[in-house]
Amino acid sequence: MLTLIKNARIYAPRDLGNCDLLICNNKIARIDSHLMDGSIFKRDDPLQRSDVQTHISPLNGLALETIDAAGMIVTPGFVDTLVHITGGGGEGGYLTRTPELNVEEAINSGVTTVIGALGTDANTRSLRELFGKTKSLNAQGISCFMYTGSYEVPIRTLTTSIKDDIIFVDPIIGVGEVAIADHRGSQPTAPELARIAAEARVAGMISGKRGVVLIHVGEGKECLSLLHSVIDTTEVSAQHFYATHINRSEALIKAGVRFAKLGGGIDFTASTTDTLVKLGEIRASKALAMALRLGAPSDRLTMSSDAQGSLPHFDSNGKLDGLEVGRIDSLAYELKLAIQHEGLDIPVALAAVTRNPADITGLYHKGRISVGADADINLLNAETLAVVSVMAKGKWLKRDNVIHTSSLFCRAAP
Ligand code: ZN
Repeated sequence: MLTLIKNARIYAPRDLGNCDLLICNNKIARIDSHLMDGSIFKRDDPLQRSDVQTHISPLNGLALETIDAAGMIVTPGFVDTLVHITGGGGEGGYLTRTPELNVEEAINSGVTTVIGALGTDANTRSLRELFGKTKSLNAQGISCFMYTGSYEVPIRTLTTSIKDDIIFVDPIIGVGEVAIADHRGSQPTAPELARIAAEARVAGMISGKRGVVLIHVGEGKECLSLLHSVIDTTEVSAQHFYATHINRSEALIKAGVRFAKLGGGIDFTASTTDTLVKLGEIRASKALAMALRLGAPSDRLTMSSDAQGSLPHFDSNGKLDGLEVGRIDSLAYELKLAIQHEGLDIPVALAAVTRNPADITGLYHKGRISVGADADINLLNAETLAVVSVMAKGKWLKRDNVIHTSSLFCRAAP
């Protein structure tokens, strides 16, 4: 199957201008201006639908679908490097457990690659369940990977070791979220963290993965000091770490920028609440703009949704009085705010949800529009930046605002 997307403004995330894009099966095959004009193939038997500008014509026995994407911008599918795909929460008792990710929510908001993680709870939730959900999301059409471990140290693994998990279990691309500066974490020491990063790195070298360690940074006053003591006292360098929730406060953003300048990846959490913002959290889009102003290298900056994680509200006595669930559509929302409210250039803002998270986690075939990359593509309305169509692994999962999934389920009649 060939798909030709014509007349769109392409952001790869670099601005490629108005180009045509040819997709062959699940890969991007060519990017060029005026690619394969109508004279090259016959349109004598178009299976034309009136609602979309689509033609299917024979081309040496191959079906060619042509899409006129004038008025749209084409971007890579979004890469979300932290999603609690099996649900999270539970820190306020069983009533506060959050539900697992529904693939349609990811598709609807243009997220075509997800990395799943456990969180605080690796007792009633497990890596086996995470593995199953990872496989399920892949079968449903998006690309899903996972981290081994949880907040806990020593790291819980699926096999018997971090190395075996990364080397032998395909969807496992690293370790995470390991909690630091958080009362819910295991209070790891620098040598423990160095050992985790070293094992992940060597496993990555052997298996051709990056073996990154995703660090959950809590509200604790020690900020990123533990990461600095690892990189100052061992052979482990900053680039093996990817620190998330860096938009908790201005002070943490400044610490994050220092870490990014040393080569570490830093991530801003898109899911938030008004209460958290009033308490000092900075919106991910604003944090991104701030980090750039402070001179952080732009390729080290990302946004992720932390979807299905719990966002608790506490009353003035510190008692839990409500809970919201992180949303995967927060990623597209913060991208839009970064461009329209913070005034960032589209390529810079877009890179934070496409190429940068893909590169930091070693998914080099994701998050970019380039020849040979996976055909994960979003068509956005050029004015509103709304996600209109989504292609993942060469298949349309959302087309002109209508979602198409391969889910086998339908509700039984009552
Ligand atoms: Zn976290």
